[in-house]
Amino acid sequence: MSEGAAAQAAQTVAADDLQCFRRVLGRFASGITIVTTKLEGRVHGMTASAFMSGSLHPPLVVISIGRTAKLHDYIEHSGAFGISILDEAQEGHSRHFAGQPVHVHEPLFDEQVDIPLVQGALAGLVATVEDAHRCGDHTLFVGQVRHLQVREGAPLIHFAGGYHQLANSAA
Ligand code: FAD
Repeated sequence: MSEGAAAQAAQTVAADDLQCFRRVLGRFASGITIVTTKLEGRVHGMTASAFMSGSLHPPLVVISIGRTAKLHDYIEHSGAFGISILDEAQEGHSRHFAGQPVHVHEPLFDEQVDIPLVQGALAGLVATVEDAHRCGDHTLFVGQVRHLQVREGAPLIHFAGGYHQLANSAA
């Protein structure tokens, strides 16, 4: 038996066990983003961890947005979105944009580009929607990258339903 298996044997359960499905997905550590868009002059933001790179040539990214989220319709209408990758100090922003009340200052946006990005984020990009694919109760929006920005720092990490920081994080 391998070291990992000896430490704790994995349990196998039915694939339609929703609680277990959530637990398994929660074992995939990720960064946290705020997806933004602007419609009729109003900015809307939403916390999302379902973000990935899609292609290098051309530069494409993919986000998965729940079909009942307000942001879903806003992106369908605006045809563009921003991604702000949160800094380790921005846990409050993650909670705020997930609709969980927190006692922090209202988040500020950087309006240098047509789709605002969250101020103080570790990195950001703006993309125009190239394609959209239905994925059960979510939609996968494929975006062509139009703008990029990045700074030094450490990311906010989401793992097993909680927020974490990298132990060794200078980048
Ligand atoms: P709302 O719930 O109305 O908006 C979200 C919050 O943002 C509200 O509190 C609102 O007041 C605030 N807000 C919006 N715009 C502004 C603004 N301009 N200024 C100040 N505040 C503003 N869902 C997914 O579909 N995909 C994911 O990948 C995903 N990942 C998640 C990861 C984590 C860690 C968490 C906690 C949640 C995740 N969610 C994800 C769930 C999603 O964040 C929530 O369901 C969210 O509340 C849906 O947002 P909404 O667009 O329906 O709008």
